[in-house]
Amino acid sequence: MSHQRLARLSFSILTVLVIGGLSGCVKKQPADLVLTNGKIITLEDIAPTAEALAVTGDRIIAVGTAKKIKPYIGSSTRVIDLQGQTAIPGFIDSHAHFTGVGEARMILDLTRARNWDEIVTLVAEAASKAKPGEWVRGRGWHQEKWDKRPEPSVDGLPFHDALSSVTPDNPVLLEHASGHSCLANAKAMELGGVTKMTPDPAGGEIVRDGRGNPIGAFRETAQGLVGRPLYGSELKKTEAERADQERKAIELAVQECLSKGVTSVHDAGASFGTINLYRALAEQGKLGVRIYAMISEENSGLQQRFAQYRIIGAGQNHLTVRAVKRLLDGALGAHGAWLLEPYADLPTSTGLNTTPIEDLKETARLALENDFQLCTHAIGDRANREVLNIYEQAFADHPEKKDLRWRVEHAQHLAPSDIPRFGRLGVIAAMQGVHCTSDGPWVVKKLGEKRAKEGAYVWRSIMDGGAVIGNGTDAPVEDIDPIPSFYATVTRKMKDGTAFFPEQRLSREEALRTYTLNGAYAAFQENLLGSLKPGKLADITVLSKDIMTVAEEEIPKTQVRLTIVGGQVLFQKN
Ligand SMILES: [Zn+2]
Repeated sequence: MSHQRLARLSFSILTVLVIGGLSGCVKKQPADLVLTNGKIITLEDIAPTAEALAVTGDRIIAVGTAKKIKPYIGSSTRVIDLQGQTAIPGFIDSHAHFTGVGEARMILDLTRARNWDEIVTLVAEAASKAKPGEWVRGRGWHQEKWDKRPEPSVDGLPFHDALSSVTPDNPVLLEHASGHSCLANAKAMELGGVTKMTPDPAGGEIVRDGRGNPIGAFRETAQGLVGRPLYGSELKKTEAERADQERKAIELAVQECLSKGVTSVHDAGASFGTINLYRALAEQGKLGVRIYAMISEENSGLQQRFAQYRIIGAGQNHLTVRAVKRLLDGALGAHGAWLLEPYADLPTSTGLNTTPIEDLKETARLALENDFQLCTHAIGDRANREVLNIYEQAFADHPEKKDLRWRVEHAQHLAPSDIPRFGRLGVIAAMQGVHCTSDGPWVVKKLGEKRAKEGAYVWRSIMDGGAVIGNGTDAPVEDIDPIPSFYATVTRKMKDGTAFFPEQRLSREEALRTYTLNGAYAAFQENLLGSLKPGKLADITVLSKDIMTVAEEEIPKTQVRLTIVGGQVLFQKN
């Protein structure tokens, strides 16, 4: 071989090496974080699954095979070997009460109490540690979930005597899981001036025994009788003390969300004061999860402050405010859902309309003019129809306004003729999978078989009608954990194993979309969140099981291993 030929040969070998390097293993600018060797569900149609991804700053910069991502690993890159575990876009809870989640952690948690006796024991223990006169608060009890009926009782609700005898020096207030009723002890009733002679307030009921004596249970507005003295004691605190308390609640809510794989929360009703706190924390980089807050303030206050409180992506996309929250009715369990026809188990009632229609129309007008999204709570079929009517009229009045994405929160019980209106009008249904299976055991009793089958939690029918559905938990009404809500969405299986009208199930992929991309869309954030692709924010949840393929009964056993928000690992469980 001549010298020349040898030179040419080595040149071509070199060319091959260089080209090979460019296409395969040349070093890239090192990423800050690489996840590898996993099953990454991207929810992107072009490449629905991947093995690895790279993150720089708060953004995803590459997604692909482990081999493709390897060149992004440098000496400063944090590499997490997923060891085959599943990573998904971070869960977005489209309807929860954020500070409520934290506040629930600051008082007694009664959600797991199996019966009234257990609750009395828990409260006695808390009272023994409290100063005399200090309030003892709890929440989350549900008489329908107890393993035995208290004796004596009225409508399954306990008498206060056992509770009062162990808490003589402390007022006690225990809120129902739904927030629509409460239990109080003798001390709290004394402070509230509640006696046999106290009349029921409008829109509420003091539950009484056969002789007219209050048993210690209060429904709807009657809760104010025992709530007011508690509120009064809160008002005695300084503004700084109250802000401290709220900051603490936010901190607890953040921890709770992160430990359960939730990276974004749509807060279904925040005051201007709460939004100020969120904003301060977001700007200091201390918010942790992302919050999409719906403002809950009177029309007059809104009108003056719309401009000031339109906040898009503050604190590196941790806080966005561009929505208003309204409530048109109550909840089904307490006969507060506003129905077209009377309740099957209470033929004298069609429920409650909690905001005058004219007020909601005014809110709709203000929201349209100021380019805010309107999110209205509607549970009963009448409430849903009224909301859809108002939205339809508002859209017709302003055909120039496009892409409004107005929402109905819950959209829980619908008349069949209203179901296709969601898709037709482009109205988003912000539903909660877990409400269906949690409430399912008594829904037929309240609505009757026909209404329950045709219109209760009909997410399949709504989605088939072309509407976008967001998923969530309404926490603290339900635990903010997305896994039970995902399970409920795909199985509709209740505690006893039977399914609540299973024809309304969603597929696992559809359900995951309701908890990710759809939630992002419902907050105008689909370009930032909800799927895993280069350019989007690196919000990622790593699970112990592949919820898309494991046996159905394995889904509820799934644990969150890692929660990543904006490329930061904020929760890790080994
Ligand atoms: Zn709610």
